[in-house]
Amino acid sequence: MLNFDARALALLNRLNENGYEAFLVGGCVRDALRNVEIHDYDVTTSALPQETLACFPDCPVIETGIRHGTVTVLWEGLPVEVTTYRVDGGYSDGRHPDGVRFTPSLEEDLARRDFTVNAMAFSPLRGFCDPFGGRVDLEAGILRCVGDPSRRFSEDSLRILRGLRFSSVTGFSLEFQTKSALIALREGLQKVSAERIREEFVKLICGTHAEAILREFPQVIGVFLPEILPTVGFDQRNYHHCHTLYEHTLAVLSAVPPLPHLRLAALLHDVAKPETFSLDEGGTGHFYGHAQRSAERADEILRRLRFDNETRRAVVTLIRHHDGPLEESEGSVRRKLNKLGDLFFDYLALCRADTLGLAPEFHGRISHFDRLEVLARKILAENPCLREKDLAVNGHDLMLLGYRGPQIGAALRRLLDAVLDGAVENEKELLLQYLNREDET
Ligand code: ATP
Ligand code: MG
Repeated sequence: MLNFDARALALLNRLNENGYEAFLVGGCVRDALRNVEIHDYDVTTSALPQETLACFPDCPVIETGIRHGTVTVLWEGLPVEVTTYRVDGGYSDGRHPDGVRFTPSLEEDLARRDFTVNAMAFSPLRGFCDPFGGRVDLEAGILRCVGDPSRRFSEDSLRILRGLRFSSVTGFSLEFQTKSALIALREGLQKVSAERIREEFVKLICGTHAEAILREFPQVIGVFLPEILPTVGFDQRNYHHCHTLYEHTLAVLSAVPPLPHLRLAALLHDVAKPETFSLDEGGTGHFYGHAQRSAERADEILRRLRFDNETRRAVVTLIRHHDGPLEESEGSVRRKLNKLGDLFFDYLALCRADTLGLAPEFHGRISHFDRLEVLARKILAENPCLREKDLAVNGHDLMLLGYRGPQIGAALRRLLDAVLDGAVENEKELLLQYLNREDET
């Protein structure tokens, strides 16, 4: 039997008791059949939005998108999106349905959905409703549009990216006509809002099969991320590399954990290599300043795709720091900890992955990052002083010594540098003595 949360089934039951049809639909049915964890529940029902509200007087309800027929019911702590059976109107702008029409027909509701595996409904009372062969496709691992792919992708171009996203997450292959239409109509993604693109793209790059999808469809991704196009097939002309730049990037992406900021950092860490490329007299390629330049590009890209500030800052910081070895000393690790803070271990993850993306004879370099990790763990276990606010003296102490205005900030910075370098212990007396000595010289 399918492994649905009993609370979701109880919610269906409540709608049924009130005389309405109600089914689980979409991702939760698909994922139950695939035997993977269900992360959200969608219900489709014959009840009109106001009727749905009337069925749940005892539950918190959020009117998520009530104009489109959707309310979120919180049933014993489980949020369930309940949507009235509906048909989308035309899509004159390729982005938004011009309007929605409610319908008494479940099949009509399923027909508006994007892929056959997402167009199945289930209820314990009525079993499966699967008019488009979603179950057969699911068992065969096929992603197929409901209806004519060209029409469906033209109606809402986001479905193009959703197709790649589901394929990346599930490993399903795109049915031939679905795939051809998706490639042919890719330019439609230009019209889709940055927010909708971002949501699907993040899921795509965090999918288990992201590497294969990115390899096969750079021309589709390139519609909203044109910066990757010059990296495709780019020969780095450097003995460290046996891959083209795009292949290197994909290897790095696969080798970092599937977290959005790490996958984005991996995808964009060398994005400015083509624009910083130079050849020396011996015919070797160099990319001076590429880490900084790639960080700047990543900043532009993530702003354009309307990423939140925290993700953007993390990605940009990781990229800016990714290049070059770090001296294996406590001082330099302390400095890096000071600069990167919580991102230090993500930085190591990116550097390790970057190393694995080099030619095989350089993979041994990964031990360098293992040693840095040992050093960092040792430093962190010692309750270290890594920021100005960890110093055993503060601005007030310095004012008592006669420091004023900007001198205070400068002195604190000097003290922190000295502590990071190991030149002085983080103890009040010692720090003050250190300043005195410095001021005398
Ligand atoms: P997951 O939640 O696992 O990412 P999902 O299939 O639940 O996947 P949602 O984006 O939550 O995806 O959408 C819920 C359902 O709504 C889908 O399964 C699909 O039936 C339908 N759907 C969502 N977006 C579209 C769209 N752009 N075009 C057509 N149908 C869509
Ligand atoms: Mg969902």
